[in-house]
Amino acid sequence: QYHVTTITIPCQYHVNILCHNLSDLWWEQLWEEIGEVDENYAPIHTYQVCKVMEHNQNNWLQTNLIVTEGAQRVFVELQFTLRDCNSLPGGVGTCKETFNMYYYESNDEEGRNIRESHYSKVDTIAADESFTELDLGDRVMKLNTEVRDLGPLTKKGFYLAFQDLGACIALVSVRVFYKRCPSVVKNLAQFQDTITGSDSSQLLEVAGSCVNNSVAEDLPRMHCSAEGEWLVPIGKCVCQVGFEELNGSCQECRLGFFRSVLQNPTCSKCPPHSFTRVQGATSCSCEEGYYKTDTDPPNMACTRPPSAPRNAISNVNETSVFLEWAVPEETGGRKDVRYNIRCRKISVDSRRYEECGSAVRFLPQRSGLRDNSVMVVDLLAHTNYTFEVEAINGVSELTNPGRQFVSLNVTTNQAVSVVRKGKSGKNSISLSWQKPDRPNGIILEYEIKYFEKDQETSYTIIKSKETEILADALKPSSVYIFQIRARTSAGYGGFSRRFEFETSPYLAASSDQSQVPIVAVGITVAVILLALVTGFLLSGRRCGYSKAKQDPDEEKMHFHNGHIKFPGVRTYIDPHTYEDPNQAVHEFTQEIDVSCITIERVIGAGEFGEVCSGPLRLTGKREFPVAIKTLKAGYSEQQRRDFLGEASIMGQFDHPNIIHLEGVVTKSKPVMIITEFMENGSLDTFLKKNDGQFTVIQLVGMLRGIASGMKYLSDMGYVHRDLAARNILVNSNLVCKVSDFGLSRVLEDDAEAAYTTRGGKIPIRWTAPEAIAFRKFTSASDVWSYGIVMWEVMSYGERPYWEMSNQDVIKAVEDSYRLPGPMDCPAALYHLMMDCWQKDRNSRPKFEEIVSLLDKLIRNPSSLKALVNSSHRSDSEPEGSGHQSVGEWLEGIKMGRYNELFMETGYTSLEVVILPHLLLYG
Ligand code: AMP
Repeated sequence: QYHVTTITIPCQYHVNILCHNLSDLWWEQLWEEIGEVDENYAPIHTYQVCKVMEHNQNNWLQTNLIVTEGAQRVFVELQFTLRDCNSLPGGVGTCKETFNMYYYESNDEEGRNIRESHYSKVDTIAADESFTELDLGDRVMKLNTEVRDLGPLTKKGFYLAFQDLGACIALVSVRVFYKRCPSVVKNLAQFQDTITGSDSSQLLEVAGSCVNNSVAEDLPRMHCSAEGEWLVPIGKCVCQVGFEELNGSCQECRLGFFRSVLQNPTCSKCPPHSFTRVQGATSCSCEEGYYKTDTDPPNMACTRPPSAPRNAISNVNETSVFLEWAVPEETGGRKDVRYNIRCRKISVDSRRYEECGSAVRFLPQRSGLRDNSVMVVDLLAHTNYTFEVEAINGVSELTNPGRQFVSLNVTTNQAVSVVRKGKSGKNSISLSWQKPDRPNGIILEYEIKYFEKDQETSYTIIKSKETEILADALKPSSVYIFQIRARTSAGYGGFSRRFEFETSPYLAASSDQSQVPIVAVGITVAVILLALVTGFLLSGRRCGYSKAKQDPDEEKMHFHNGHIKFPGVRTYIDPHTYEDPNQAVHEFTQEIDVSCITIERVIGAGEFGEVCSGPLRLTGKREFPVAIKTLKAGYSEQQRRDFLGEASIMGQFDHPNIIHLEGVVTKSKPVMIITEFMENGSLDTFLKKNDGQFTVIQLVGMLRGIASGMKYLSDMGYVHRDLAARNILVNSNLVCKVSDFGLSRVLEDDAEAAYTTRGGKIPIRWTAPEAIAFRKFTSASDVWSYGIVMWEVMSYGERPYWEMSNQDVIKAVEDSYRLPGPMDCPAALYHLMMDCWQKDRNSRPKFEEIVSLLDKLIRNPSSLKALVNSSHRSDSEPEGSGHQSVGEWLEGIKMGRYNELFMETGYTSLEVVILPHLLLYG
């Protein structure tokens, strides 16, 4: 006799209990159902068997059918006590200390008809602690708890059975349960109650469904573990627009709040000047008089059009006007205020306003201006203009309150309108005209242009301070066209309309004083020409004009195709000004017969075709190597013109630091341009290939050459526009020559050139800010580019501004950022670069000054010792290295072979070498 106690296991929420009532068990044979009391004397049921003294025991205890409810894996928890065989009096005999557990799956009630062989064994159950007689005396209950699991189960239910083979057991409780992942809401997704899988390591993937008013692109998922836990949530639902999440569900936005995008977690307050009328709003409506564009972000306030700009002022300069105004008082709450300019001029004939048309240019542009100023160029002088500066913003076109503008009147100057013919002879016509009524300043002079009717390409210009002239040396019986314009300090005005006057017939009698013998006319013409040439040469002006004979206040020039034709004048002529570009090619280049050229190798690729090299053999000359640029087949007429345009430019130059044109091949195909051959190719590639290989003197020598070539070009009046190391060629003696000529569109061929907001293509990193901003290309902007070339050379071909974007470069330069000195760059050179990069283009050095400064540095190498930043300590250099001998200096500039010659001719110290230069350049 002993007492037992039941222990009630608290039901965990995730555990579904199928059966834990012992009264559900069948019992058979010698298992006895015994009513007991627990430690608290509460009645309990146990099933006991204790046939330890008898042989061949096989006592079964079986449950009724336990329905699985779909569970595939079921747990059985047993509580029992077991007698220690050793403690039994009179020997152990057949006593056992274990029992077996079985199960049998079935879809039907089978009662007691199940045969022993049908059962599957779950396990043999042993006790952790068995009890003895002593325990009974002390009323100590040694209760064992064991859990086993069954599965996978596939049928509706199963029977459990316990087999005793001769032990002393009391089965106190049997609890059968399975595990499930209970229904939950996670990340706004509802996951249904889920029974765990059959395998202990199995994770069941379960798809959730979004709770009301929530959505998901992909349905969220979670995993139900064998232990009944939800694991690894994937994805989530979000409240749809107009709703926000609150305690696991989606609630409508309150009044005055909205939610327009799923990305925002919560409803936002309506921005200023907007409201909602209902809950759950996805957007707010604008108050009256306020607007929103389609592209305005939802959280942006509703806005209004701006008021008119204020305080507009104009500043006339020659034929351009700078307009400036103050921002509108009311910007409407927006940052995208822009300005449009309307330009009208007073028509001379009708005295009515008419639109300015496309001849007038606006810098940077006419409409959509961001800044509150604009430069208007190419206006007619002597003309009245009205400018209306209109302010608009993003919502201006959504409303119609009338244009908001400020207007201002600008008078450039008045044109000459009345021209009268005076006396006319068979070779002359005298003209007079009226000074404009309102000349807008003091008239400095008039310019009279005339030409024979239908011969406009060949015209004459006379300048006069008076309001009358005599045009002579005209053909008899011929109609001439005259146009007159005035110049004030504001610049030239537009020409008057065309006046047609005719000379008298050859034989007609006339009182004209120009009726002089033909010989006299001939002499006069000769004198004029002589005076023109002498005057020009004496005045030293390259494209000036000489005094004409008749009036000290009158000057005369003859033009052909727009060029002043004076022998011996070295001025660059733009091939564009030729009506027929072939004529320019003809004039400036030499035709070479293709049989004189042998193409040997392809050395590069140009925009128009391959660049090759090979020998050129000209009659009476030694064969020498040349570069041959070819124009690929299938070119258009425009391409041919552009291709040969470069030759027409190059052919006008003759300088040791400008690539030399040998000639062109145009009479056979392919069309070719033949230039001197530069063995080391383009400078940027050459420097990268020879990183760190040159002495400072050698680098400065290269820079000096480039500056000298540029000085020559600027003296000729040629602006390069694309000066960069890639456009410099290097020969075998390290002589650098400027190449890559063309008209402005040459930039189209440069991979570095980027389109600017104004449409032109510009190599941003090399170009001066004023050239980028308003296409002001001058020799001063070439000087800026030269500074960049210096930087490229001193850093051995590093890319200016490295990988910064073009936009960032423009911005940085505008903000006064300048490239830092390259490593080991002499301070004197960096100073020169910085000078070239002055914002004010007039403060930049001229190429002439650059050449003479570099000459001084080369002659005085110790001036290059101080470095901007050094990769090594400069004080580790040998003492006194600044005091060079002539020999060292010559070595330094790779001229060592001349040392002996210098010594022989008395140049024994550097001072003696430098002296004559010092005298020359100071
Ligand atoms: P270009 O079309 O002038 O930019 O020429 C394309 C490439 O051909 C250059 O980058 C050079 O590498 C090479 N090249 C052009 N002209 C010469 C020349 N006169 N001597 C040697 N290489 C040249």
